Amino acid sequence: MDIDDIYNLIPDFMCTKGCRECCQNFGVPSRTRIEDERLKVFLKKNAMKPGKAHGNTCPHLNESGCKIYPVRPLICRLYGTSPNYRCKMEVAPLRLLHEDEEAEIFHFYQTYFF
Ligand code: SF4
Repeated sequence: MDIDDIYNLIPDFMCTKGCRECCQNFGVPSRTRIEDERLKVFLKKNAMKPGKAHGNTCPHLNESGCKIYPVRPLICRLYGTSPNYRCKMEVAPLRLLHEDEEAEIFHFYQTYFF
């Protein structure tokens, strides 16, 4: 199982344009070793340096949004799409994940990538 197989279980979700609510309030997103490696490769390939967290704002957020969007970790992808991670701005995908699906995603994530 590849990490992308898990990401593909998460419904597509379009944030409100310009919204930074979650990225400004949850600090540095947790990630696995594989996600961290992908992030390092991405930063190097794009000649970018890791940012610094400011208060609760994610270090990967800049004026135009998430600067590591293609390699953002699972928690950033899941937020807003499942019952336990509802978007505070009440934006949601066409079909919210069921709690059992959310649990299965975490099960796969923890089983294969921790
Ligand atoms: S990694 Fe990107 S999507 Fe995730 S919290 Fe940081 S800025 Fe937001």
